[in-house]
Amino acid sequence: MENKKILEVKELMKNDLVDSIDMNELNDLKVKYLGKKGLITELNSEIKNIPNEGKKEFGMLVNELRNEFNNYYDSTKEKLDSIELNKKLESETVDITLPSTKVKLGAPHILEKVIEEVEDVFMSMGYDVVDGPEIEEDKYNFEMLNIPKGHPARDAQDTFYIEGEEILLRSQTSPVQVRTMLKGEGKTPIRMICPGKTYRRDDDDASHSHQFMQIEGLLVDKDISLSDLKGTMDVLFKRLFGQNIETRFRPSYYQFTEPSVEVDITCVNCHGKGCNVCKNSGWVTVVGAGVVHPNVLRMSGYDPEVWSGFAFGFGAERLAMMKYDINDIRTFYNADLREVHTFDREDEE
Ligand SMILES: [Zn+2]
Repeated sequence: MENKKILEVKELMKNDLVDSIDMNELNDLKVKYLGKKGLITELNSEIKNIPNEGKKEFGMLVNELRNEFNNYYDSTKEKLDSIELNKKLESETVDITLPSTKVKLGAPHILEKVIEEVEDVFMSMGYDVVDGPEIEEDKYNFEMLNIPKGHPARDAQDTFYIEGEEILLRSQTSPVQVRTMLKGEGKTPIRMICPGKTYRRDDDDASHSHQFMQIEGLLVDKDISLSDLKGTMDVLFKRLFGQNIETRFRPSYYQFTEPSVEVDITCVNCHGKGCNVCKNSGWVTVVGAGVVHPNVLRMSGYDPEVWSGFAFGFGAERLAMMKYDINDIRTFYNADLREVHTFDREDEE
């Protein structure tokens, strides 16, 4: 009697397991025979009702059915998959005679480009390009640069404080000088520049941005004087803007340098003749610099009796504005690719 049920299922399978079938139908068959309530599954569960002497044979017959179905299922699926694949390959054949999609090449942001040019100039003079944290400690951003707490020089740099008065967004890249000197442990000469983001609580307008790129430089060695700084600035600006560019120093005041100077260069716009960019003076101020203050050297472990050096800092945006004739600092950050890419400008060089 039990074998009769098996024969019935076998008969059904004969009709069902045909060649011409699609994937959905094949999956339906799998449910019909091997699903939770599938015919073969049900036969299998009946095995417990079979008298002991017949159990073995019954089990074997059910297994045969299951194997038959599985073989059918596997081979049919393989066949259907390969048909599917061929169809897909046919429809996706690439016609190599069709015109291709144009790939737009990227180009550096003009600010990045100027920074790279400055880096190249200094690297050719043996400087390292170093990096430092944008979230800084008051100690490095001010105190070790000879600007103690409560000093009025701090007011000029409207600082973003993050945690009390100790943790801040660096208002200048000068803390990287301090960090580099500390690493030098008062023993190694230093030649470094640090281009990096700085932050001040300025209201954004055509010439101010609460975040800007400063490029800081420091040289510490023996017998360094202001004339070394002059020579270095000459090289930099002639390389950036051409051989006819002159530099001049005007006395200034910073806490971390003594003497301090402002560096003017020949107005790139009028080449010194006078125009509204340079307020008819023929010069524009681009850098703040000076001879490193003995206190700053001392605090970072360099004996001012032995070592001397110069430091300078300038805004990368200001250089890029001059170089690319841009009159609004916000241009660099408004992400308008027509203004800040270097596609066309690349050709001018
Ligand atoms: Zn001018």
